[in-house]
Amino acid sequence: MADDLLPRAAALGRDFRAGLDERPVFPRDLDPDAVRAALGELPDGPTDPAAVLDQLREAVEPALVASAGPRYFGFVTGGSLEAAAAADVLTTAWDQNGFNALTSPAAALVEEVAGGWLKDLLGLPPTASFGFVTGAQGGNTVGLAAARHAVLERHGWDVERQGLHGAPRVRIVAGSGRHATIDRALRLLGFGTDALAEVPTAPSGSIDVAALAGALSTSDAPTIVCLQAGEVNTGAFDDFRTAIAAAHARGAWVHVDGAFGLWAAASPRLRHLTEGVAEADSWATDGHKWLNVPYDSGYAFCAHPAAHAAATSYTAAYLVGDRPEALRSPGDFVPDSSRRARGFTTWAALRQLGRAGVAELVERSCALARRFAARLSEGGAEVVNDVVLNQVLVGFGDDTPQVLEAVQRSGECWMGGTVWQGRRLMRVSVSNWRTTEADVDRSVAAILAAWREVQGR
Ligand SMILES: *Cc1c(COP(=O)(O)O)cnc(C)c1O
Repeated sequence: MADDLLPRAAALGRDFRAGLDERPVFPRDLDPDAVRAALGELPDGPTDPAAVLDQLREAVEPALVASAGPRYFGFVTGGSLEAAAAADVLTTAWDQNGFNALTSPAAALVEEVAGGWLKDLLGLPPTASFGFVTGAQGGNTVGLAAARHAVLERHGWDVERQGLHGAPRVRIVAGSGRHATIDRALRLLGFGTDALAEVPTAPSGSIDVAALAGALSTSDAPTIVCLQAGEVNTGAFDDFRTAIAAAHARGAWVHVDGAFGLWAAASPRLRHLTEGVAEADSWATDGHKWLNVPYDSGYAFCAHPAAHAAATSYTAAYLVGDRPEALRSPGDFVPDSSRRARGFTTWAALRQLGRAGVAELVERSCALARRFAARLSEGGAEVVNDVVLNQVLVGFGDDTPQVLEAVQRSGECWMGGTVWQGRRLMRVSVSNWRTTEADVDRSVAAILAAWREVQGR
């Protein structure tokens, strides 16, 4: 009986996915108390597993977001490719511990292969180490942990052993347009956000390289420079060639947050945007954004495997001597110990799309973003950014907050808001494999209708 539950769960998942195109993109008239009540109390005794599944589905159904569907343009959100979503079901059923080659040779081998493919697609050095983490937050944290090790080692300081008390003060140079996950990583790693030397961002969203060079010349402190592939509002890229050369000339470590933008490197047409990025020391990117791998999936890469492993690996007494040395140990490159076998979904996504499919997905998303920009401009809205990638910033005069609210309420599509250079704007991000031209046109119609509604009030 309980053996029928996995196929039942898969069938329910299939039905949900089949309905993504029709259901409101965001729940209408959500009643949190009704959901809480439907989830019930902690029972004293057991419940039939089939009833548990049905109750879960019924309870949360009214609160689900169709973010895996074709008209969700909020944040930077991918859907999940068919093979990747199905591989995720298998990942659950297999329930492998992806810690090392003893806990699961399968998990270790798949990560080894998929990690190699990722480096190849993203144009990163074949010798770089990598870790499958939970997202770009994890990737940024791991990259900066490796950086912390390396820049302090050069100053004769063993941070893993000695900690940060009494260490030479490390300076973090980053653009004002950096993602908030960089700041959180700095907090978690003990640098503190006061360690930041902030460099202005140009109107495009790229770091001001002249200001960066200026900031680098003011101190000989151990330095980490954070650059960005894909500014989260505009999609802009930093000038990697110039910025990395300037940073390396001062002995700094360069970490690149490429949560979504690094995927431009997988497209022959867009690769030029990432020119020079392979010269950096560490990189973070996401699987669950543009690669359309289910949550949670991200990657940390490092040009210096020893620094990477020094920052994240551990050896416990019960592991020594037990390790089949021939196999890579995934747990040496991530902050987790026991962990989900995160490689299966990534392997499946890459295998389904192939090199050409990844390039096509990236290019199609960008073409759809340009379509958004063109149609919204025709409708009288103001497109504020140069649409270099998959991000579009849109203003509706003084009506923007109300238009956003009306669009989000419509259930037709969902986009978030942002503040860019002091202005409140709508932010559109196209990153889902399911999105078509018709979805863009339908969404534009919904946005313009919402604007008319606001103007008519
Ligand atoms: C989304 C994003 C992050 C954080 O990624 P998560 O997957 O949410 O951990 C970091 N940097 C940039 C530029 C992003 O777009």
